[in-house]
Amino acid sequence: MSLAIGVVMSRLFIAGLGLSVLLVVSRLEADAVARMTAVKLKGVHESIEANNAARQPVEQKTGYDDVRAILHCHSKWSHDSRSTIEEIIEGAHKAGVRVIMFTEHPADHYDFVTDGHQGLKDGVLLVPGAELHGMLAYPLKSLKGLTFSGPQEQSDMIKRTGGLAFICHLEERMDWEIPGITGTEMYNTHADAKEESRLFLGMVNPLFWLQLRPLIEQYPQELYGALLDYPKDYLKRYDELCQKFPHTGVAGDDSHHNIGMKIIRGEKDLIILEDLLGDKKAELSISKLPFLAPIAGKSKPGDVIMKLDLDPYDRSFHHVSTHLLMNGFDREHVWEALEAGRAYVAFDWLCDPTGFIFQATKGEEKWPIGSKIKFQEGLKLFTIAPLEAKIRLIRNGELVQEAKARELSFDVKEPGVYRVEYWLQIGDEERPWILSNPIYIRPAQ
Ligand SMILES: [Zn+2]
Repeated sequence: MSLAIGVVMSRLFIAGLGLSVLLVVSRLEADAVARMTAVKLKGVHESIEANNAARQPVEQKTGYDDVRAILHCHSKWSHDSRSTIEEIIEGAHKAGVRVIMFTEHPADHYDFVTDGHQGLKDGVLLVPGAELHGMLAYPLKSLKGLTFSGPQEQSDMIKRTGGLAFICHLEERMDWEIPGITGTEMYNTHADAKEESRLFLGMVNPLFWLQLRPLIEQYPQELYGALLDYPKDYLKRYDELCQKFPHTGVAGDDSHHNIGMKIIRGEKDLIILEDLLGDKKAELSISKLPFLAPIAGKSKPGDVIMKLDLDPYDRSFHHVSTHLLMNGFDREHVWEALEAGRAYVAFDWLCDPTGFIFQATKGEEKWPIGSKIKFQEGLKLFTIAPLEAKIRLIRNGELVQEAKARELSFDVKEPGVYRVEYWLQIGDEERPWILSNPIYIRPAQ
């Protein structure tokens, strides 16, 4: 994610559009900026504490380990990240992440498969890959030098190496339909943030950052989570795609650790805003904008007046992850879970969902999440999570049952693509918590 905002934005201040206007306007609807007040964030924080206190481990066993994985992660191999593998692994440890599947931006100076991070490092399993022409691409052999006529050929080629491919940034490719592809993102943090126009407007205003500073210190995760909205368009498309053929749904963290701002004292009367990659985002003159004088204080040219960091890895990893149900811990078992769709997406910061179950049952028989089974009499769907929530059972994109409960059992009367969502009351809003992959129930014949 990079801030697509230029120096030109500073003109807005000269036009008199300051932070107060931004905040007054934002009260009208719930966007990220509206959620970034001390009162709102305190409410969110208290809900999360209450969730943690009420959480009860799920007793039922599935025979699988619930492993937190991150797909869509960049390191300094990518042009828009400066992060070392040590920093990323530290973030994984803090967020309880055990698998990281990298998606570097390819470049001539390296091969993302052979040079990319891989193997087990300090307990974290690393898988190399790339963000390649609209896909999270995890080939098992180098693709260096190859070109593809389009997404179908690219997906086929990745799969032929034994690799996996997922559509990423679905919002930009809602018309893609690629038989044989492993799956798609069902949420992407960057796509969620893109809609936050007022947030991006605020981010080139030093006053905005000044106001944000105490909130970032007190409620770092809640503040990051302010951008979370239900990915309605993504899921609508996801439901359509899954009815055509199975797609494993994954979370696109799009982690880079590059969102934040440095306020630097420039030459003469200038205040400079620079992002975490060192790109200048605004240059403001104190004599033209006297409200900047207290920010500048007694600073000298070159002084860093303030540095704020919004997206260290532990925070973006904790925001959303893909939970894999695995029965072994190595690259092969990661592949097996993702190919089978034995995965769910969760916003872990709202409450730890580990142990969540969605399965089909008939008598003693059980089929895990992602299963493809034939319709038969006596088939039930069962789901349970560690916390009471609003459970929504969805068939072919339509809501078929809703309940406020910890678990739900449903008699299957007809074939279809079934998935569940869990929602939690967080502060004064309901927020999505768990988005499962489907169970595919085929017609009997
Ligand atoms: Zn990316």
